[in-house]
Amino acid sequence: MAFSFNPFKKKKKPGAQCNICKSGMEYEEGNILTSSQIVTSNSFWDKLMVEPETISYTKAHFESSDAMATKMRHMIFNKYSEKDQAWIVCDYCVEMFDVEKEQVKEHARKWWETDKTFRPPACGKASEQMNEQEYKAVKTYAVMQAGARFLNRE
Ligand SMILES: [Zn+2]
Repeated sequence: MAFSFNPFKKKKKPGAQCNICKSGMEYEEGNILTSSQIVTSNSFWDKLMVEPETISYTKAHFESSDAMATKMRHMIFNKYSEKDQAWIVCDYCVEMFDVEKEQVKEHARKWWETDKTFRPPACGKASEQMNEQEYKAVKTYAVMQAGARFLNRE
């Protein structure tokens, strides 16, 4: 590589932050997933929809069928499902997803080696990578149902 010699570059290779929990990772750690793999996890949406930034929408959606809150949940869904880049996910968060452990680790190695530019197969917006029926099903879960079981519902 022509530009590999850079006297200003620090010796320690930069790490990354888990795209889900924001925890730090060192060079070569983590797993690489695609948006389609992320959005097909109900656990991911259950967790996301009850976080401090989203819980008020989730409560309003379930407790008072607030149309604006449902719309916000829809926007949250779009924000995550339309991520075009690969997701770097820590070893803790990866447990939420139904993926081949070896494969997502291997993709992470390639991602680090290529200076975070490697794109795994089917990388890209979930709406473009999934078939319409599957995509609709995950969207319905995320927008209409996710987080319900964590609310105090009597
Ligand atoms: Zn994480």
